[in-house]
Amino acid sequence: MTLHTGVGRVRPLAYHDRAAVDPALLDVVEYRKSGLSLNWIIGCPLDCGYCVRHLFGNFAMKVPRALTTDRAAFELLVAHRFFQPHVTPIQLLNRATDPMLPAVKPHLFTMLRMLDDAGLTNHVLIITRWRVDAADCAALNALQNLRVTLLVTYSGIDDDRIEPVDSQIAGASLRTAHAHAGRLRVVLYWRPLVPGLNDTDAHLAAAMELSRHAQATVFTGLFFRDEIRAYYRDHGLPEPYEHTARRKVFPEHLEQRVLAAAAARMPGGSPVFRKTSCAVSYAHGLPDYNGHVGIRELCDICPTAQLARCTDAATVPAAADVAVMAAGLGGALVEVADRAVIVSGLDEQRRYLMQHTLRHQVHDIAKPHHPRRHGRADLGWPTATPIPAAETATVQEVNTR
Ligand code: SF4
Repeated sequence: MTLHTGVGRVRPLAYHDRAAVDPALLDVVEYRKSGLSLNWIIGCPLDCGYCVRHLFGNFAMKVPRALTTDRAAFELLVAHRFFQPHVTPIQLLNRATDPMLPAVKPHLFTMLRMLDDAGLTNHVLIITRWRVDAADCAALNALQNLRVTLLVTYSGIDDDRIEPVDSQIAGASLRTAHAHAGRLRVVLYWRPLVPGLNDTDAHLAAAMELSRHAQATVFTGLFFRDEIRAYYRDHGLPEPYEHTARRKVFPEHLEQRVLAAAAARMPGGSPVFRKTSCAVSYAHGLPDYNGHVGIRELCDICPTAQLARCTDAATVPAAADVAVMAAGLGGALVEVADRAVIVSGLDEQRRYLMQHTLRHQVHDIAKPHHPRRHGRADLGWPTATPIPAAETATVQEVNTR
């Protein structure tokens, strides 16, 4: 299958085409869990059936178009009311295109240079499943200030109705990036893992082999929202779950098999994490910027040195300070606990601002996190069938360091 991934630079979105774009996509800065997300280019030819662009009615837009100039997007980010120099993690072009597409890449690098030239040391996450070559790595290594992480999305899905892009492209990109990583950090972003689709023993073993070509590996599940289910149904694709969910779906039994595969692999694989920010932070030798260490069961597979790093950096914020912060954002503090701050009346964006500022988890009282479920959907937890002992791994075995 030929994918038209574009050449040259991205043209602006025509004024008369804007009316057809979801207003949420026209908002180029959005606060997400992994940081302030800057999306000034939308449209993608890669056709992953589970793409979040379904949620914005944008899946049919195959040719990337710019919503604004690179310079204007830079100004929108650094002037954003929630942006904090050196603190706020940044994600570039992660919502509605792939930043390494040939036509998109020049804009990515222009943005990185502007941020770097401003002396900013913030984390920057670049997520791709497309091609990465040695020249790309040289450009990323040349950045002096930003903490750049390249997360290479790899699924191993071989049903090209769901994922027409061959996973071998991502595998090759990961190997190249890891071989040429200098300042750049490289993470294997193993996702989406879906029962019955890409979770055979052979799939897990292939991902574990790839984990040797990264400084860290993170695994995660599928967003299975109503809009994505509708796409699956319209195209006669096998539905992976009976129900849809707000959070990512990752059944307990599958997690146990992933951890068992990690424990059984050859020495030399990178540590495996449940959370993206944990993998990114570990790759830079820093404590997790999302403060997951309060949710201690998340850390049971973490390398000892990293656990010490996060534990040493952790502080439980003073309730009086948090109350002022929550009230200033229009909500209220409910409780400050070792695991997390609980608030009410604050949307996700404001909770993430608090979380990245406090370096402590901030949860909404209306959306409780269940112990051991790691912030995932209820589907598959607790597992309906007992997990055979042979498929479980002791935590020490998973990431022995
Ligand atoms: S110690 Fe816990 S919070 Fe820190 S990186 Fe490891 S898993 Fe994440």
